[in-house]
Amino acid sequence: MIPFVDLKKQYESIKDEMDGAIRDVVESCHFVLGEPVEEFEADFAAYCHSRFAFGVNSGTSALHLALLAAGVGAGDEVITVSYTFVATVAAICYTGATPVFIDIDPGTCTLNPDKIAAAITPKTKVVMPVHLYGGCADMDPIIEIARRHNLIVIEDAAQAHGAEYKGRRAGSMGDLACFSFYPGKNLGAYGEGGAVVTNNEQYVQLIKQLRDHGQSEKYYHDRIGYNYRMEAIQGAVLRVKLRHLDDWNRARRKHAETYRRQLTKVGLRMLEEHADRNSVHHIFPVFTEQRDELRQHLRAASVDTGIHYPIPVHLQRGYSHLGYKAGDLPETERASRETLSLPMYAELRTEDVIRVADSVRQFCEQSVEVHP
Ligand SMILES: *Cc1c(COP(=O)(O)O)cnc(C)c1O
Repeated sequence: MIPFVDLKKQYESIKDEMDGAIRDVVESCHFVLGEPVEEFEADFAAYCHSRFAFGVNSGTSALHLALLAAGVGAGDEVITVSYTFVATVAAICYTGATPVFIDIDPGTCTLNPDKIAAAITPKTKVVMPVHLYGGCADMDPIIEIARRHNLIVIEDAAQAHGAEYKGRRAGSMGDLACFSFYPGKNLGAYGEGGAVVTNNEQYVQLIKQLRDHGQSEKYYHDRIGYNYRMEAIQGAVLRVKLRHLDDWNRARRKHAETYRRQLTKVGLRMLEEHADRNSVHHIFPVFTEQRDELRQHLRAASVDTGIHYPIPVHLQRGYSHLGYKAGDLPETERASRETLSLPMYAELRTEDVIRVADSVRQFCEQSVEVHP
């Protein structure tokens, strides 16, 4: 079986370094925030070409804090996409604000900047693009229209650690940015984790207080906050892994190039490549009307796949109160029906990538005969 991801292989490749870092935390008996988290925050901010990073206990918490720091609350509207992991939208709802969905650009599966203007109302406060699959949204026109309308830009960079857009890093382009360190992400903790990143000093104190019960000094609570603190072990784990992230992202890029080379001219749609953007290929999706059949074919060939994501947020039961219906976001809905994620992780062997691609190609050649 070729698995969809393989976290064990990664651990084996850094075992000595990692075991030492974890042991140091356990021996210190300082388990929450503290030095390991502060050191990781400094390293991660520098990695993102940004001034500040704050470690929190999940990407979802990071999104919630960034929205609160931006002043978002009941009565406000946040423009975002429905073609994302549900947390993007859940975080908006936590604040009491209303998510307003616009359709994606099908070439990149990210927020289509041409659709922003028509969605802006006097209540709009934030635009939240998602750098889905490891590729950046088209940030220049997004930032340009946001500036013109006095809107705050928050990047959901949960899948894009190290991705680049015109030489700028994911996390450095918006007013605030949010990362997830869920274990399967390109940079993954040994448990839950996330970070808020910003260049803007005005948010620093608010984010630090909100993640730690509104505390300004021990047992002095200036506001109602949350327990969104990062654990020290996660800080130590992430700091070790960050040193390897560029190598791992390079390996993913190589696998993506192999997939593309092997899969041109078989009639499958793949994401557009942009010369001035550098994806970190968190996910390698292909798109076909026979998605479920292709998945079945690959399973029979011992290839594990994923679907990111089968039901867009605007059609989820828990979000029906927002009032959207099937047909409202045609590109989003088509991508959800057609997307299939092929195995992708740094430790994947090139021969396995080629075996997966051969199996995909075989399916496409067969199905052309069946559906002329
Ligand atoms: C993973 C993810 C999140 C949520 O992060 P958690 O750490 O799981 O809370 C948010 N947005 C996107 C796009 C994600 O992929």
